[in-house]
Amino acid sequence: MARIYRLDRDRDTVAEHKDGEQADVFRDAWFAIKRNERKQKQQEERKTMSRVLMIGAGGVATVAAHKIAQNADVFTEFIIASRRKEKCDQIVEAINKQWKEAWGKGQDAKRKPLPVMETAQVDADDVEQLKALFNKYKPELVVNLALPYQDLTIMDACLACGCSYLDTANYEPKDEAHFEYSWQWAYKERFEQAGLTAILGCGFDPGVTSVFTAYAAKHHFDEMHYLDIVDCNAGDHHKAFATNFNPEINIREITQKGLYWKDGKWIETEPLEIHQPLTYPNIGQRESYLLHHEELESLVKNYPTIRQGRFWMTFGEQYLKHLDVIQNIGMSRIDEIEYEAPLADGSGTARVKIVPLQFLKAVLPNPQDLGENYEGETSIGCRIRGIGKDGKEHTYYVYNNCKHQEAYKETGMQGVSYTTGVPAMIGAMMFCKGIWKKPGVFNVEEFDPDPFMEQLNKQGLPWKEEFDGDLEL
Ligand code: NDP
Repeated sequence: MARIYRLDRDRDTVAEHKDGEQADVFRDAWFAIKRNERKQKQQEERKTMSRVLMIGAGGVATVAAHKIAQNADVFTEFIIASRRKEKCDQIVEAINKQWKEAWGKGQDAKRKPLPVMETAQVDADDVEQLKALFNKYKPELVVNLALPYQDLTIMDACLACGCSYLDTANYEPKDEAHFEYSWQWAYKERFEQAGLTAILGCGFDPGVTSVFTAYAAKHHFDEMHYLDIVDCNAGDHHKAFATNFNPEINIREITQKGLYWKDGKWIETEPLEIHQPLTYPNIGQRESYLLHHEELESLVKNYPTIRQGRFWMTFGEQYLKHLDVIQNIGMSRIDEIEYEAPLADGSGTARVKIVPLQFLKAVLPNPQDLGENYEGETSIGCRIRGIGKDGKEHTYYVYNNCKHQEAYKETGMQGVSYTTGVPAMIGAMMFCKGIWKKPGVFNVEEFDPDPFMEQLNKQGLPWKEEFDGDLEL
């Protein structure tokens, strides 16, 4: 007797109409068809393949790697290279482990394939080593999540090997606590001529704050007059003193003189001289200090109607007390000092040179280890006043709040690494999808903000807006 089976493709079920005798045979055939379809779909997706190479294996890089792995439909091949290969291997192991556990629990969202992942060792201060690495892997995009000191060597190697470039912090010479875009903007013509893209400052600030500003300009303002970028970390990591990202870079930034834009000129202040309480959503009031921050440099250039541009960051009393002591005892110095150091084998001593701030970094808590006990959240956004599309004066506040514990559960890192690593991945995604791809060197506000804003909501950094509220500034 003929047996009739019905295939319900919509509901992915097999319904047997007669008896169950041949159901197993049929089911096997059905699953083979489905497997084949899935494989074909993956192959289709991989036709739009992209090979991305990331440099660095710190807190920000770890988050970016997790997010790249979650978006394997865009990132098909992914190489992580850093000074120590074992740190890159640890990131890949952690991602594989998380995926296996998710499979075990049957979490469908994570059943997507992972990118093909490889790891490598490189000293990013050495252009020749970088060139050898890029020539070996031939990435379309190099994502620089090492330190700002390496920006120029990596850009040089990208030009030599035909790779596009993305970073999250502008170049800073090792021997001078000073950052500005001029060094990287000087690469504009060379990137244009090579037909390559360089995307500068694609973390949170700079990065999302710059995209927020571009979004405000595109959708809400004819002219922006006052821009205040407000960055609050209301988290508690339960350490007496720790920095949330690389301690050397962080302390160099905070101990610099303040700088803000007013009526066409830069106004300098003493470090942390200007401060006032500001109210942050879901957090409340926090003392906020005016700092120089790099995105202001490009934003006032790209939006010349801005009359005043400032950046504010919150610090707790405990943090400032420690910072004061660190400075007073000379531990924030970035020049070399000579020191009589005992040799590791105990055979005597040797006169060595050390940089006090680099030594301090070695004894401070590692920002990557803060996540487990980190409570609270960050809130970063832009407060803008100007002339709206209706010709009247308006205020606008756009921000994201990010909880440290949620960031930790997803990636093993705290919120500050998360809020930087996620936008770095989104910027790379914008490039790989061809949305942020044009020859030259660009700050992120020079691209269309809309697709990036859409991805922020999808990738773990949702944003909110407030119209015509009190900006307090
Ligand atoms: P980490 O110090 O944790 O990580 C830096 C990584 O780069 C480490 O893995 C380090 O190696 C590696 N590295 C350093 N020097 C070299 C080199 N010469 N060659 C190869 N690899 C090297 O820093 P974070 O992850 O906290 O920060 C990464 C970047 O993100 C920094 O540039 C920082 O300024 C920026 N940032 C940007 C923010 C934004 O919002 N825009 C916010 C926070 C950070 P090793 O592990 O061996 O030390």
